[in-house]
Amino acid sequence: MSAYPKTLRKTVTEIYNKAVSTGSVVKFESTSKYLKTSNSSESSLKYHLTYCDIDAQKPQKPEREDVVKEKFNPFLKHEPELTVLDNIMDNEYKLVLNKYPIVDEHLLLVTQKQVPQSSLLNPNDLNAAYKLLKTLQQEFDEEEEDDDEDDEDVKKERYAVFYNCGPNSGFSIDHKHLQCIKLPNKLKTYQDFLVQENPEPFIPNVKRQPLEYESVAYANFNVPLPKNLNNDDEYLVMCYVSLLQRALTYFQQWEIEDPKDRMPTSYSFIMTTDWMTIIPRSKSVAEVEFEDSKYTLGTNALGYLHMLLFKEEQKKLYEDMLAKKDSTPVEDFLLACGFPNNFGAAPGENDY
Ligand code: AMP
Repeated sequence: MSAYPKTLRKTVTEIYNKAVSTGSVVKFESTSKYLKTSNSSESSLKYHLTYCDIDAQKPQKPEREDVVKEKFNPFLKHEPELTVLDNIMDNEYKLVLNKYPIVDEHLLLVTQKQVPQSSLLNPNDLNAAYKLLKTLQQEFDEEEEDDDEDDEDVKKERYAVFYNCGPNSGFSIDHKHLQCIKLPNKLKTYQDFLVQENPEPFIPNVKRQPLEYESVAYANFNVPLPKNLNNDDEYLVMCYVSLLQRALTYFQQWEIEDPKDRMPTSYSFIMTTDWMTIIPRSKSVAEVEFEDSKYTLGTNALGYLHMLLFKEEQKKLYEDMLAKKDSTPVEDFLLACGFPNNFGAAPGENDY
């Protein structure tokens, strides 16, 4: 039985609209544009760039408690106007609206108990997240079955779940939460291309490693998911563990290479109903240079879904990149916050 009611999407929309109208959710206005990559090795990739002057729109202190009080944990508080479901899987999780979203209906799947954001995902986390994706997308999947004309194209409306794990992954609240957003229209990420080329689902093992997309500069580990898991709750766990093993091996090799650079394990976990990805992370913030100016950018897992956020201080970068049709700063930035692709040897005997 699903952990979610079939009418979840409708309920989310109703609660979201009400929360925005009463001011319980503070929606930031933004503009977004696609930028085609200028990297000649992968001409079909595009980035979804969003400009949002967050600071100008931010509520005046002390309204925004999470940035005013140090170590404030909003997830321990019951906020009925933000709550979509308060009792998921024997009250292990609640589903709440992001109070400060940039995208509409941004959902957070939060553990009821305070668990650190550096903890591993457990089988219930993975299954609660996957069922959330499936429930939200069900309507579109059914439409797809009747429409086999443009199967080359990605679904028009689809969702992704992500988890920012570890200190360099870009989380702000240290209480276990997975996040779920509807992806921008027509967003096609490197994972979509990879899975289109390798559609056959498999669980990686010693003989067959996770897929890696070679045309992006950062290390990435991915696996295609079956269309239907038939309530096989262990499948996702095996995929996650194998991706994590690969990422941990990468960290291990990196440390052997240069012990001075030892850093805490951090990664971006992303899942759609089509694939699962882990990106090892070295930083959440990095400096990039463009046209003789320097900018500091930050990202969580969304950067690795090709979704980049530019604030007021980076407005010139946003505009200049679009005007010059040059995506180099995005590519430099994603590499700086991850690790180099194709680094090190293939996993061996001493690996995780
Ligand atoms: P992260 O920054 O990845 O840890 O995600 C935490 C999210 O929680 C941020 O996007 C915040 O906008 C959001 N947030 C902050 N305060 C609250 C709150 N009281 N209720 C719900 N979401 C919140």
